Amino acid sequence: MMVVMSGDATHQDAHQVVALVRSAGGEAFVSRGGNRTVIGLTGDAELLGSIGLHRMRGVERVARTSDGYRLVSRVPGVERSVVDVAGVPIGPGTMTLIAGPCAVETPEQTLQAARLALAAGAVLLRGGAFKPRTSPYSFQGLGERGLRILADVREETGLPVVTEVLSAGDVELVAGYADMLQIGTRNMQNFPLLQAVGEAGRPVLLKRGMNATVEEWLMAAEYIAQRGTLDIVLCERGIRTFETSTRNTLDISAVPVAQGLSHLPVVVDPSHSAGRRDLVVPLSRAAVAAGADGVIVDLHPRPETSLCDGPQALGGQDVPELARAVEDAARLMGRRPARDLTGRRESGESGDLTGRRESGESGELTGGEASEDRGLVTV
Ligand code: PEP
Ligand code: MN
Repeated sequence: MMVVMSGDATHQDAHQVVALVRSAGGEAFVSRGGNRTVIGLTGDAELLGSIGLHRMRGVERVARTSDGYRLVSRVPGVERSVVDVAGVPIGPGTMTLIAGPCAVETPEQTLQAARLALAAGAVLLRGGAFKPRTSPYSFQGLGERGLRILADVREETGLPVVTEVLSAGDVELVAGYADMLQIGTRNMQNFPLLQAVGEAGRPVLLKRGMNATVEEWLMAAEYIAQRGTLDIVLCERGIRTFETSTRNTLDISAVPVAQGLSHLPVVVDPSHSAGRRDLVVPLSRAAVAAGADGVIVDLHPRPETSLCDGPQALGGQDVPELARAVEDAARLMGRRPARDLTGRRESGESGDLTGRRESGESGELTGGEASEDRGLVTV
């Protein structure tokens, strides 16, 4: 079962619900997102249905849900969620483009990629400092040095940062720099990691496991929500099939399927789905047309030199087409590009869309400061 609190419910209201559920022998898990608080219940459903929860102050709805997930499940009649990432909305009504390099390599490469991202209409910067590589001999990322570069580029461009965290032990470190924590496909069922990010007080981008069903993906989201944060965005990034012409198969139907089962926003990663640059723009259009709330794309100022996933990275020459495709598709679907709402624009200096500027031009990128902790309030 699940209790959906109304928009004006107080912490005290949620506390009262928890107390009543516990007095009836059940357990209650409070999860908060930017625009909603929900409480997942375990225990005797018949009994919990009879103790008058729906009459309590601040309660909007009491709903029966699936056994496997409840906090993330969609309750008929209740709006899908909008997740706020440092002022950037992801959810119904808007189209949020996230773009940047697969991996942070150098300060110049990251800044140039961020400028390409801005030119494409992106409002969030992606980039990995901790890279989950299939081979242990491949570039593993710059670690904390990469996080500092991302923080500097955020300072320079105003783009909030989405970056991956690979292990539970690194969550605090990464959360000190990132605006949104990414869980990669290979870690979708790393349960201690999911629980740790659920307690970190940052929004989470949860990629679908390449071998996971939609139901398993939602249960992974439930692990995060159960630890307190409901600011979770699901990301379809392709699954393994027998098809070899693409790196993975974009499961486009997962977008409306997940949106039907869950209130969480769903975005699509056409880069990791296809593994091919030439398919990124067509798949971005398909994602928006299927109802995705956003698209996350790999961009690199010189894809041919990329230390990670170069064949799928768009370069500067591809940016105008990407920008047009996402913007046009968004308007066709009746969505506002999130950039219209954030007011973030390409900086004047990035007229050269190839990103082939000399390094140094962007000024010194010096050590950044870890952003302030935004602790979770618990009931
Ligand atoms: C990434 O986005 O950099 C990444 C590694 O993606 P995935 O986990 O989907 O492979
Ligand atoms: Mn990658």
